[in-house]
Amino acid sequence: MAEPKTAELMDKIVSLCKRRGFIFQSSEIYGVINSFWDYGPLGVELRKNIRDCWWNDMVRRRDDVVGLESSIIMHPKVWEASGHVGGFTDPMVDCKASKQRFRADQIFFADVVVEGKTVGYVTVLESERIAEELQEKAETFKRKKAIQGKLEPIKARDFTEATPEEIPLIPSPATGEPGSLTPPRAFNMMFETHVGALSDESSVAYLRPETAQGMFVDFKAIVDTGRVKIPFGIAQIGKSFRNEITPRNFIFRSREFEQMEMEYFISDDDDWAKWHRYWIDWCRDWLVSVGIPASALSEYNHPKEKLAFYSKGTTDLMFKYPFGVQELWGIAARGDYDLTQHGKASGQPMEYFDDVKKKRYVPHVIEPAVGVDRILLAILCSAYCEDQAPNEKGEMETRVVMKLHPRIAPIKVAVFPLLKNKPELVKKAQEVRDLLRPYMTVFYDEAGAIGRRYRRQDEAGTPFGLTIDFDTLGEKGPELADTVTLRERDTMKQERVKISDLVSKLMERVR
Ligand code: ATP
Repeated sequence: MAEPKTAELMDKIVSLCKRRGFIFQSSEIYGVINSFWDYGPLGVELRKNIRDCWWNDMVRRRDDVVGLESSIIMHPKVWEASGHVGGFTDPMVDCKASKQRFRADQIFFADVVVEGKTVGYVTVLESERIAEELQEKAETFKRKKAIQGKLEPIKARDFTEATPEEIPLIPSPATGEPGSLTPPRAFNMMFETHVGALSDESSVAYLRPETAQGMFVDFKAIVDTGRVKIPFGIAQIGKSFRNEITPRNFIFRSREFEQMEMEYFISDDDDWAKWHRYWIDWCRDWLVSVGIPASALSEYNHPKEKLAFYSKGTTDLMFKYPFGVQELWGIAARGDYDLTQHGKASGQPMEYFDDVKKKRYVPHVIEPAVGVDRILLAILCSAYCEDQAPNEKGEMETRVVMKLHPRIAPIKVAVFPLLKNKPELVKKAQEVRDLLRPYMTVFYDEAGAIGRRYRRQDEAGTPFGLTIDFDTLGEKGPELADTVTLRERDTMKQERVKISDLVSKLMERVR
């Protein structure tokens, strides 16, 4: 698979997604609603394939994980017990001059110190080069103000660390001028709604900000079905909603997104670190199995002092997106916190009777939590490739090709009759299309030059193309009759394959 490349790659991917029908901005005809996205014909197939692969590997192919689909709106007490009503906040800062809003922990500043004396402040937004950018800005500041003396190395801090005295002196990232940033305020990211006809305090409910709480709240109901024994997991795929302060980077951080989460319950005296490691490795291997190169993945261990008090450890699998290395999949060891909280708040102890150990306890949990959209973006970034290919006249030109893994490619095979005005070719091509359709997604296209039809499918990431030509009809002799040209997207190599062998040959490669 191709290596993810640098920043301008993002623009190319966004434009290809629109052009080919992977992803559009929501409500575009009304001037868009920021950070909500629509998935077009190719996008929805890709999403579905990602979800299906995960579900098959996580649930159907295992004995120890079962599925769940809980409701998006749950009893409001769920979110009190889980800590989301009180604590699911991000620190928000307003710039009064530009009316822009920022997350305080994404604004970085430093005092400009010349020979021991602070002479001003510089600010940058979170990026790959925070320290370098702040240093450059500090040097420019000193030069512009014609300050003499030696500039000391800058020390970057985020805005949550600014003292009340410093806040008025720190320049806004929007205007470059100090004096307009407000102190950080806690902003709860849950979307509120009302259930029923009355809109008052008593009817407040929330759109879930994560799917995980469904698994905790239904823990007892699932244990009571008798299908599961510790250690076991409950998995769920579904939409989550967060009123993010600074959604950005295309679909990376949006306000409506889809999560695939699994809560793996283990006994209270089991080796949680062993299970944590097991799930980190499982998640990494799974990402590789859908076409993300291992070389673009890394691990980030949250420092102990930044963990919630109940957390034993959290490791994020990071992906090298074009805009920087960012969290893709979080794998958290959450102890018995969630079940204990719901046990206390509901008055129904979330205990499990272990008939092997002959004891009752509240299980501990390991939680791998990932966003479908973040995986999809990582897949698109990994797949985007430009190479050289001959055009109709045999001249080399740049070809854009999405090297999507056949497992998740939206369309598995494209079927082309060489010419659309030859009924025998069209009929044969439609027979081939109908032969393959029960097994895989097939795209049938008879319009335009064959080379252009291939290019469109290269951009859609279709791994195989089939051309039905006069040889197929037996015009060059019986040995080529009922054979077609099979073209492989990445190598552009072509081979002649018998129609009767197509199903088995292709199934082997798209599974
Ligand atoms: P971040 O720090 O990036 O906001 P988080 O640590 O709050 O993420 P979790 O609460 O651990 O994220 O959510 C689990 C997973 O859900 C994340 O690893 C990510 O893949 C996905 N996710 C979280 N928030 C968003 C979002 N706003 N848009 C898209 N995906 C998201």
